[in-house]
Amino acid sequence: MDMDKLVSLCKRRGFLFQSSEIYGGLNGFWDYGPLGVELKRNVKEAWWQDMVRGHDDLATLSGAPEPYEMTGLDCTIIMHPQVWKCSGHYDLFHDYMVDCRESKKRYRLDQVRGRWLEAKGQRIFVATQQGGEEGEAETQQRALKFFNLRGKDVDQLKWDGPLVLLTAVPEFSRVLGPDAKELGTLTPPREFNLMFKTYVGALSGEEGAAFLRPETAQGIFVNFKNVLDSSRVRVPFGIAQMGKSFRNEITPRNFTFRSREFEQMEIEFFCHPKSSPEWYKFWRDRRYAWYLSLGLEGERLRLRDHDQDELSHYSCGTADIEYAFPFLPPGEFGELEGIAHRGDFDLRSHMEGKLVRQGNELVVELDAEGKPRHRGSGKDLSYRDDLTNERFVPHVIEPSAGADRATLAFLCQAYTEDEAPDENGKMQQRVVMKFHPRIAPVKAAVFPLVKKDGMPEVAQRIYRDLKKSFNVFYDEKGAVGRRYRRQDEAGTPYCITVDGQTLVDQTVTVRDRDSLKQWRIKADDTVAEISRLIAGGELAT
Ligand code: ATP
Repeated sequence: MDMDKLVSLCKRRGFLFQSSEIYGGLNGFWDYGPLGVELKRNVKEAWWQDMVRGHDDLATLSGAPEPYEMTGLDCTIIMHPQVWKCSGHYDLFHDYMVDCRESKKRYRLDQVRGRWLEAKGQRIFVATQQGGEEGEAETQQRALKFFNLRGKDVDQLKWDGPLVLLTAVPEFSRVLGPDAKELGTLTPPREFNLMFKTYVGALSGEEGAAFLRPETAQGIFVNFKNVLDSSRVRVPFGIAQMGKSFRNEITPRNFTFRSREFEQMEIEFFCHPKSSPEWYKFWRDRRYAWYLSLGLEGERLRLRDHDQDELSHYSCGTADIEYAFPFLPPGEFGELEGIAHRGDFDLRSHMEGKLVRQGNELVVELDAEGKPRHRGSGKDLSYRDDLTNERFVPHVIEPSAGADRATLAFLCQAYTEDEAPDENGKMQQRVVMKFHPRIAPVKAAVFPLVKKDGMPEVAQRIYRDLKKSFNVFYDEKGAVGRRYRRQDEAGTPYCITVDGQTLVDQTVTVRDRDSLKQWRIKADDTVAEISRLIAGGELAT
């Protein structure tokens, strides 16, 4: 699929706009338009319904060791600065960046690759931000230019091997930066904390300094005790939260995939340490199945267990759910969600102070004077099982998803070009967004075939009835074929048309977006029929 086509459809039909576009836009920030806001809201509501509200506390779900409870929270974006000191974000949440003195551009070190080559007696490393074949083609073009060679002289370039990461290059004097014309213009890598800093209250000094949250998870940990004391939940249980997070990404790119302001959907699941490996597997598989159930294709979606050396300092196991986004080189996948076994790292950090690993143990990190580097809350965040009387710090499984990345994956998956007959039965090219009916921004469109003979009145009555339960669109302008086409681009799964026969036998036509099948139902049954189709995610039979 051509990503440019999707990006332009998103703007043209009102899924996504660049933030502050009339002022030239702001890199890394995106606005959801009239269709986009409905789509993203449906993604978030599907998650909340399937994981939280609709969860059956009494049942043992397939793959789960026992029944569990789910509850929710909505915490603030700005929290006490100590939260980020104990969580590790203050000291550790950084990427490495390099600057280019020539182009004035900034790059994330781990996103720059390149190839070594020799030509005209000189050995250089040509850097690029692209991967795969595109990266190889780009480095070749730039190497030819650098050595003042023409396309037919390509044999004079003696390449060392495939693309490797810039992290593998110890020193940059022989490096041709991704946008540079001269060698050695990249600065040595520097740390860059990704948290946005702000100031609370009238104090502008460091006393009032605070951070915009880079993840929603910490709000859940610091409220663990409040939830336990105010509701009757018992371990095992999960707390879910969705909301905005902020990261000052060095190189935001790939549409909304890497934004500076984005929304997360996170669950912290608290369980007994002994059963935590089973719960980790349960959540990994359950979350993977969720994306499939909403229409992501198995071949483009994969579950990847992290290698031991990829795990965070606290994690006993992590898996990513990844999607083959069309903007990535073939064979590469981008993360939609991470499912991490976090042990007792978070709750203990907020009790005792910032922890570090020492051998197999997690211990409080000390400063030069032997005092805790970042002091914890001192509150007891352990749990007492009132049946067994056992007291323990629960282990945590964290399925952490991005609402914007999920929405982007659904957009990419939905984009389809195929053919549909026009009014005269002639096949015409169409663009159709094949969203799963549950997440489709508009569930149904209602059309009177013509604007006379009482058809608009009947259509408007059906529209109003449907509006009580669904987002529905009414359209009486232009040829009906063109109206269908507009709904196909919006991803509306069902169109209902009132025509001459309606006036005779009170039936209307339902048209299915994907199969293009049409069938008649009683006008009075429209709400029931659309409800049935949407609930079942069912297409025409
Ligand atoms: P990446 O390696 O891609 O930066 P991450 O591993 O840092 O992601 P997490 O900290 O695990 O991401 O965040 C959980 C989820 O939040 C991610 O799986 C992703 O869906 C979402 N997310 C994280 N950073 C961004 C971002 N800059 N823009 C959009 N979504 C994001």
